[in-house]
This record gives sequence, structure tokens and C-alpha cells, in this order.
Amino acid sequence: MKKTLWISVLLAMGYASVCLAQKQVITLGTGGETGVYYPTGGGICRIVNKLKLKPGLRCVLQATDGSVANISRVLDDSLDVGIAQSNWIYKSYHETARDDVEMMGQGAQGSELRTLLVLYPEYFTVIVPKDSDIHQFDDIKGKRISIGTRGSSLRATMSDLLQKKKWQYQDFAQVLSLDATEQASALCEGLIDVMIYTVGHPSGAAREATDDCDSRLISMQGPEVEQLLAENTYYRWAKIPGAIYRGNIKSVPTFGVSATLFTSTTLDDNTAYSLVKAVIEQLDEFRGLHPAFARLDPEQMVKGPFAAPLHKGALRYFKEIGLIE
Ligand code: GLU
Repeated sequence: MKKTLWISVLLAMGYASVCLAQKQVITLGTGGETGVYYPTGGGICRIVNKLKLKPGLRCVLQATDGSVANISRVLDDSLDVGIAQSNWIYKSYHETARDDVEMMGQGAQGSELRTLLVLYPEYFTVIVPKDSDIHQFDDIKGKRISIGTRGSSLRATMSDLLQKKKWQYQDFAQVLSLDATEQASALCEGLIDVMIYTVGHPSGAAREATDDCDSRLISMQGPEVEQLLAENTYYRWAKIPGAIYRGNIKSVPTFGVSATLFTSTTLDDNTAYSLVKAVIEQLDEFRGLHPAFARLDPEQMVKGPFAAPLHKGALRYFKEIGLIE
């Protein structure tokens, strides 16, 4: 009797551990609901879950504060995978001994970051109400602005730019710390004079601002931006295509980065392999999920230079299908 009881207990434990071993949840950090990271993560999880590439593998989405939050959470293992701007991945990867550790998470080891796929272009986007007297970036001085929440990528971008322009918070009528998703309504309600967001297009946030209060996009040019680009290889000139948003017919020159799917060395090779395989194999379906993905091209998605090196598992897949030699 005793012996059979033990055998049952052992069998049950064995079964439980097999089940546990098979269940694997990948958490994917995105951004706010009105950005493009959120639907991107949704599309990736949907494909991974549909394909069942590994038994028990499930992908679960999390809304976050965007790049900087995702980088710090992938590094502290509270997320497995994230989407982030190439510039912040680059900065975190290359500047482990940096003075802004707080921004990326205490004790974070940026050198452990790994690229999975380069996704789509993101643009530094500045939007003002239709009748605003802001016509170029310099005109925002003295106005009411939002610099994003603490720890957000918007805060990091704004602090870079304010530094370049040698502007202090006192140079503005008001400096709010709104969440990226709150900006469009704040702009249309007249709480801020300008909305700034580095995002792919079309995005829900820019659509809200242009639909709800006829806002217009303004360009980013001038010596400071030129200097910013000269100093940072990961920024590049870009044009927000015209006719995406109501009332904004012309394309708008600005600078941009690449939205990048990334992880850390902690993610096992087989999972990284399965994840990129799922996206590349289902690229046609993925392209149909959001207009920002319409021009995704596998060769560009695995083309360096990468903000952080490719994950070994991803590299194995790209070599296998001949995208990388
Ligand atoms: N680029 C933004 C960030 O890193 C997020 C944009 C989005 O959610 O699409 O915070």
C-alpha cells in the first residue's frame, strides 16, 4: 500500500514537472495604447500563439512606458522581450558605465541586450494646434510643454534636446509630466501648446490630435538637429510621409530611429529562434495588421549595424534561411 502510494506521488510529481517544463510564457513589453508598439506587440504575440512553434510557448503583452521602461525591465528580467527605439538600446548597450544608470534601471547590464529584429522607422514628431504660432521647433521656447513621465523615453529624448538647445525648465511657461497617451487630449483641450512623441506612423496619438483639433505636424531642422545627428550614429534624417493625417498633406522632414524587437542574453536560443521564425514566416499576415508594417522587408529587418548584437538564436534562424551569411 505504502509502496503504491509513493509510486503515485512520484508519478504525479513527474507529470507536474513535465507540465511545468513545457509551459513557457514570454512577456513582451510594448508602450502606451495610442502608440504603435502596442499593436506591434499584439501582432507578434498573436502570431507566436497561433503558430504554437514550441509546445507550451505563449506570448503575453504588457502596456508600458515605452523603450526606456522596456530596456530596464528586460535587464532586470521582469520582461523577456521588448520593443524599443534603436537609440536607447544603443546607448544602454554601449554605455554600461554611464552616469544615467538610474534611467535604465539600477545596476543594469546594458551589454547583455540583444537584437531580435529591426521593425519599422519611428520619427521625432512635433504636433501643434492648427492656429498655433509655433512654426518650427525653436518656437516652443516659452510655451507649455510636456516632458513625459519619469523613466519614459520621452523624458530621455527631451532631456537630450533641451541640453542641446541649452534650455532650462524655467525657459518654459509650464513643464508637465504627462504620459505619452495623455498628450493628444491635453493638446486639444489647450493644456499644452505642443505635443512631442517619437513614434511610427500612423499612430493613434497623432491621429487623435489631428482628427480632434485639426493639429499640424512641424518639421525638425536646423544646426542643433544637425549636431545631434552628427554626434549620434543611430539618429538619421527621415521624412514623415504626407497625407497620413487629416489636414497634413505634405511630408514633414525630421529625424528618426528604428523600432527594434530586443531581448537579453537570458532568453534561451530556441525561444529567440522560434520568435523570429514566427514573425518572418508570417510576414504577410503581420504586414496586414498595421499600416506602419506595410513596407516591412525581411532583408532590412536583419540588416545591421544593430544597436545591440543579434541574439544567437535569431542569428541561427537568419543564417538558416540565408538572410545572413
Ligand atoms: N517610441 C516610444 C517610446 O519609446 C513609443 C512609441 C510607441 O509606443 O509606439 O517610448
